[in-house]
Amino acid sequence: MRYVFGPVPSRRLGKSLGIDTIPLKTCNWNCVYCQLGRTRPLINQHQEYYPSEMILTEVQQALDSHQPGQIDWVTFVGSGEPLLHNKMGWLIRQVKDITDLPVAVITNGSLLYLPEVRQELLVADAVLPSLDAGTPELYQKINRPHPELTFERLVEGLIAFRKEFQGKLWVEVMLVGGLNDTPKALSDIAKVLERINPDAVHINLPTRPPVETWVQLPGEENLMQATAIFGNIAEVVHPAEGTFDLSGYDNPLDAIIAIITRHPMRMEELQQALSRWSPKQVKQVLADLAENGRAQVVERYGVRFWSATPSHFPDERQSIRTKPGSQRKSKEN
Ligand code: SF4
Repeated sequence: MRYVFGPVPSRRLGKSLGIDTIPLKTCNWNCVYCQLGRTRPLINQHQEYYPSEMILTEVQQALDSHQPGQIDWVTFVGSGEPLLHNKMGWLIRQVKDITDLPVAVITNGSLLYLPEVRQELLVADAVLPSLDAGTPELYQKINRPHPELTFERLVEGLIAFRKEFQGKLWVEVMLVGGLNDTPKALSDIAKVLERINPDAVHINLPTRPPVETWVQLPGEENLMQATAIFGNIAEVVHPAEGTFDLSGYDNPLDAIIAIITRHPMRMEELQQALSRWSPKQVKQVLADLAENGRAQVVERYGVRFWSATPSHFPDERQSIRTKPGSQRKSKEN
């Protein structure tokens, strides 16, 4: 399967069948916490990146090969920003025609200021956009967006979408220690959330390997403050425990590439997800992939993660230049 993966465990969406509408890593943001590596270059072109008919055929195959109860949600979640695919409305409608399962879209929300993009999403059951900053300055520091995507456009799009959308709007706030977890930053975000009026706020933590080495988890106290400031619709969403369903793959190599392209994984997680094969086989395939330049080890928080090589993770020296307040700003960013 090229465009469809999982189901993968999700705290918010249970067993979620993922649909990837764009190539790695097609995004109009370059978030400091991204687990897919740096966005190089920023892409803000709205087009049909993969043939919609082929995506739909795979969705049908994946649905046919699972029993009722094995999938809770069908989720558009890309190796970047899924709404850059220009046939999202058609795709969501077609998926809803072939299954009764609810459909979710995980997006950074940056294109919701465009009426035609909002229109395409109205048929979804849940939309999960991001809001990591309550000011233009912090938005630039954390999300590092394409120049056309201003903070005002992001907020305006979210507010307009809320007014038109009848489904669930769950806003995700990724808290980065020292950046948006201070009382001032949290209160700025809360003011914007109040204007958007979402159904829920999911506070997320950068526990997967962040692209920048200097990204830190928020402090325990800051996390409690965030929950208090955002109000009773907010909850902290810790990463889900559970097994990745890789039954659609008949060899460990394809299964490993499919998963580490979208979710960098620790060795133990991979061995658990690939328990059909022996730990020794999994280790050997990873060693071969690393030797052929198709997989890499990324170390963050002292933990080693396996990721696919198209993902660009800078080393400490390259990354530190991009830290807000750093004296030596790099042109790479
Ligand atoms: S976290 Fe999402 S929005 Fe941010 S750079 Fe990565 S793919 Fe793009």
